[in-house]
Amino acid sequence: MGAEITTVSGIRLAVKDDVGPSRPGPKNCPVCGKQGRKVTALTVTSHLRSEFWDKVAEDFWFCWTSSCPILYYDNAHATYVSKDMREVRSRFGLKETGTPRPICYCLGITQERLLEEVVEKRCCDSFQDVERFTRAGTGKWCLTTNPSGVCCRTYLKDVVEQALKLAHADARPSLKQVARELDSSREVPLVPMELEISGMHCESCTTSVAAALEHAGAQDVRVSYPEGKARFLRPKSTAVDRLVEAVEDSGYSASESSKGR
Ligand SMILES: [Zn+2]
Repeated sequence: MGAEITTVSGIRLAVKDDVGPSRPGPKNCPVCGKQGRKVTALTVTSHLRSEFWDKVAEDFWFCWTSSCPILYYDNAHATYVSKDMREVRSRFGLKETGTPRPICYCLGITQERLLEEVVEKRCCDSFQDVERFTRAGTGKWCLTTNPSGVCCRTYLKDVVEQALKLAHADARPSLKQVARELDSSREVPLVPMELEISGMHCESCTTSVAAALEHAGAQDVRVSYPEGKARFLRPKSTAVDRLVEAVEDSGYSASESSKGR
């Protein structure tokens, strides 16, 4: 029998051998093995049921993988929270296959509602149109409303742009077909990545590089001057070239690290 972990309400889940509790690297989800995103205690307590609040330390990470049942993990304290409603009060849309699937948490907009507008009613031609028309992605409270703690707009844009492309194809697919297609292509909406940066002369250069990357759509940007590296999460809809260009436009050069994360 393989290794397993027990979540806060006692659900047992099988873990990957190379990343489970036997090798507690802090960044990787013990169940799917993918790197998640560090989240604040405020984000975790906003979604975790209050009977488990005594388990909250500042070491929680969020798992993005849509097929993975883990929502939050704290490998250091061996505390694991699944998406099960006995443990959390919120559904995370990108991990759900049934309805409703929230996608803009601040305004309470679901993926179903967005697809209805975009695919069935053909409300819009661009993401900006969708934003104006539905108000999706215009909230400001994602830190506490969105279980991932990241701005809803980040992956909302991905989903909407993909839906627009499918909806406007010659074949005129049905709402169901578009929904199925979206499901088959989503797995990890934000990909951890690393760029080698050259041309930085001092600590303050890191601020300019970070600002350029953030402006181009990167999330959770950290730039290290001594290492000459920028680490961040890249939304799938943002091309690597666009991020490299953004850094170069601000006067530095950038290249993809061979390691890739
Ligand atoms: Zn996972």
